[in-house]
Amino acid sequence: MKDIIIIGAGPAGLTAAIYALRAGKSVLILEAQSYGGQIINTPDIENYPGLKSVSGFDYATTLYEQATGFGAEIEYTSAVSIEDKGEIKTVHTDSGESFDARAVILATGAKNKHIGIDREEELTGRGISYCATCDGAFFKGKDVAVCGGGNTALSDALFLSAYCRTVYLIHRRDQFRGSDADVKKISDKENVKFVLNSTVEKLNGEQTLSSVTVKDKISGETKDIEVSALFVAIGQEPDNSSFENVAELDDKGYIDSPESCTTKTAGVFTAGDCRKKEVRQLTTAVADGAVAALAAVSYIS
Ligand code: NAP
Repeated sequence: MKDIIIIGAGPAGLTAAIYALRAGKSVLILEAQSYGGQIINTPDIENYPGLKSVSGFDYATTLYEQATGFGAEIEYTSAVSIEDKGEIKTVHTDSGESFDARAVILATGAKNKHIGIDREEELTGRGISYCATCDGAFFKGKDVAVCGGGNTALSDALFLSAYCRTVYLIHRRDQFRGSDADVKKISDKENVKFVLNSTVEKLNGEQTLSSVTVKDKISGETKDIEVSALFVAIGQEPDNSSFENVAELDDKGYIDSPESCTTKTAGVFTAGDCRKKEVRQLTTAVADGAVAALAAVSYIS
């Protein structure tokens, strides 16, 4: 029996662990994959206050070491449901094991969105990737494409431009959602080509990706761009449906929770990108982690 179970070892979950442990509570973190969440894939973080520049991996590793250093325990398993037994919450996992706690913090983050076109699953790992930092090095000297117009797509394009021959940045509008600072940096790169007002319609190639067919939304024309890889960076979607019995979800599946990080269930809290919010940044995720942990500590006390 722990005081608090945290579901998710991303920045929100790890921050919640640090705050809860420093308040004298015992903490178990359940993580389905590896610690760090999405930030681990970010090549360079330049907008975290107090850190001029740090890789997502280094940041996540330091945070992980900080949390485990204070005594956080981590089980690598996927939480599949929460049973509300009043003062005790039982979290069931896909391995069949169950864990009890007085409070639970849902910090499940969000997973990468797929474009939803034919052969996307089949070619994943064969040219289609959702992580430029993980897979970019396989395409050194090659022509590649990035799809998306947010901060992830911009930072992926910038990262890939350092060692790929050409990076096509395919975006469905002519305005970027990502920061002007990164748009400016990319515009200065000679090997990044903007393919704007365009969508990826078709993935071509036998065993591996050899080209993408893009459609210009204004002219309606289509063309093939020869690339060895397509990095899909079109945002994330939440995965909270297993917890609908304890937390209200909005129409997109995010946990509908106020700034207090509480949910409809006493003793269940939420933090980070899985929560309905306007701004999903590292800073807002860690802020949530602190708020949720302190609320859970207060609830237990
Ligand atoms: P995002 O901000 O939601 O951007 C997703 C992009 O993909 C948008 O440009 C969107 O186009 C496009 N898109 C969405 N669905 C699409 C589809 N089906 N087909 C084609 N294009 C599609 O996602 P993100 O870039 O992953 O960023 C997520 C959050 O993390 C953001 O809050 C971001 O600021 C943050 N982040 C921060 C940093 C950093 O601070 N260093 C780094 C990475 C991410 P529209 O613009 O037309 O909607």
